[in-house]
Amino acid sequence: MQLTDTHCHLYWKKFDEDREAVIQRAIDVGVKHMLVPGTTIETSKEAIELAEKYEQVYAAVGVHPTDAETLSEKNIDILFNLAEHEKIAAIGEVGLDYYWVKEPEKQKHQRGVLSSQVQIAEALNKPMVIHLREANDATMGPVFDDLFSLLEPWFDKWIHLNHPLGLKPGVLHSFNGDLSLATKAVELGFYIGVTGPVTYPKNETHRKMIKNLPLNRLLIETDAPFLAPVPFRGKRNEPAFVHHIADKIAEIHSKSPAEIAEITTANAARLFAWGD
Ligand SMILES: [Zn+2]
Repeated sequence: MQLTDTHCHLYWKKFDEDREAVIQRAIDVGVKHMLVPGTTIETSKEAIELAEKYEQVYAAVGVHPTDAETLSEKNIDILFNLAEHEKIAAIGEVGLDYYWVKEPEKQKHQRGVLSSQVQIAEALNKPMVIHLREANDATMGPVFDDLFSLLEPWFDKWIHLNHPLGLKPGVLHSFNGDLSLATKAVELGFYIGVTGPVTYPKNETHRKMIKNLPLNRLLIETDAPFLAPVPFRGKRNEPAFVHHIADKIAEIHSKSPAEIAEITTANAARLFAWGD
């Protein structure tokens, strides 16, 4: 059985002691590819170093919305140059976070920083790994509306120019929005990232949303070291735990875990174009 973890922060200090063993455990349970997204220029470089070291690891480079103030006109060229590395599969993680950032001015700044990074994605034809977090973790609201309106002119242009991002813009990472937003995202060509919370007993509404989404648009992500699935909830998460998320999706969609592994691994290969 081959699995893919499309979102793990393997450079995080929580892995400093045993990073090698963590990656080996993932490979041993059949994780074929791991995508490591940066959150700053510094961690984007670290993601690339891991991708250079391990065949199974690919990197995404980007500046996370909660670090938006670290990206400026002075260093955006550095990010662009990093994005040209041969093991870059995506631009990310980028996006909007109104959970940690409440000031309207700073939220506006996040949108500007996101736009500059959409430009890099467009120029290099790389899909985006998008982080979206609404105030109070609401499942609808301004963060979703702002993303869609920010992207609208880009979509118009991409569709008009037949740019590949018009059909395959990226993934909404660890998506927790409601079904109407997920449906809209899927219609725009987005993939939906499913993380550990899908296994939490109280998240019945979230599971219902996942049940209503087409399987060919789901990706499995750990977001390690965060969001560990049951039975490791509250502990450090790692890519080897992806199969707990696959098992839950299998249950929700009445499929076998092997089928879910195969489908989501093919989805990731299609989006991130890393071949076999
Ligand atoms: Zn992340």
